[in-house]
Amino acid sequence: MIETLKIAIQKSGRLHEGSMKLLKECGIEISNGNNQLRVMAANFPIEVFFLRDDDIPEYVQDAVADIGFVGENVVQEASKSVDAIEKLGFGKCRLSIAAPKNGSINSINDLDGKKIATSYPSILSTYLNEKKISASIHQISGSVEIAPRIGLADAICDLVSSGSTLFTNELKELETIFFSETVMISNKSLSNEKKILLESLLFRIRSVKKAKNNKYVLLNAPNEKLQSICNLLPGMKSPTILPLAEPGWSSVHSVISESDFWNVIEKLKANGAQGILIIPIEKMII
Ligand code: ATP
Ligand code: ZN
Repeated sequence: MIETLKIAIQKSGRLHEGSMKLLKECGIEISNGNNQLRVMAANFPIEVFFLRDDDIPEYVQDAVADIGFVGENVVQEASKSVDAIEKLGFGKCRLSIAAPKNGSINSINDLDGKKIATSYPSILSTYLNEKKISASIHQISGSVEIAPRIGLADAICDLVSSGSTLFTNELKELETIFFSETVMISNKSLSNEKKILLESLLFRIRSVKKAKNNKYVLLNAPNEKLQSICNLLPGMKSPTILPLAEPGWSSVHSVISESDFWNVIEKLKANGAQGILIIPIEKMII
């Protein structure tokens, strides 16, 4: 029998689309029709299980699935015995303590003796212990943001991304206690065959991630400025330089990281670069 790598992803919710998209970008074809629980990929020995995100760490620990894509927040809270292997670059959010905008709680020091509602009692209690704050924790599983308004708690500890839910519920953010993004977790005792499949999937994921963090850049430059322009664009090895039909000018091709992008573009222009084109890269194999 050929080994397959069993991968658990969220059935529906905030991580579902990003997880499916990442697999697709890795060239793995999965149909998600008919509300199925598990699906074999058409062209890679992978079987995808669609689960509630909270169940993923346990299923991976118990080897029901070999790997899973899940929020670091869920992994941290669940404290199961799994390995976190690779951050996946989506599902970014933060776990924050927030309190009513016009109330008496203005900093975490005002939380002593107060009641905090959260779905993350373990992460929160660790934080409160570290800060020597003695507040009581009220665990609820959803709609945490309405807890202060209905008199269930004085403050909340919940996931935030844009902050719009806090704003709508007239809450102010006091402190972030945990930053999170989607991470790949793995069972701790994979067979050698499964490890080989995992390495091949990881290679694809890293190529996709690298491509997203980089752009292909093309520009025209006067020959006397080529050296200073090349110094700004080291690229993967070194830039490609091709002569233009117009004497004294060259075309320079290179790769530039997304984070350096605007900074370097300014400097390229200042060095006489013209007709700068920035093109997305689909995969990057180094
Ligand atoms: P399930 O039905 O699978 O249990 P859920 O309702 O618990 O779903 P979602 O709201 O879909 O979960 O969130 C899944 C994950 O998305 C979170 O655990 C977190 O890692 C991430 N996330 C990113 N931004 C946010 C946000 N603003 N609020 C909540 N979760 C977010
Ligand atoms: Zn959940």
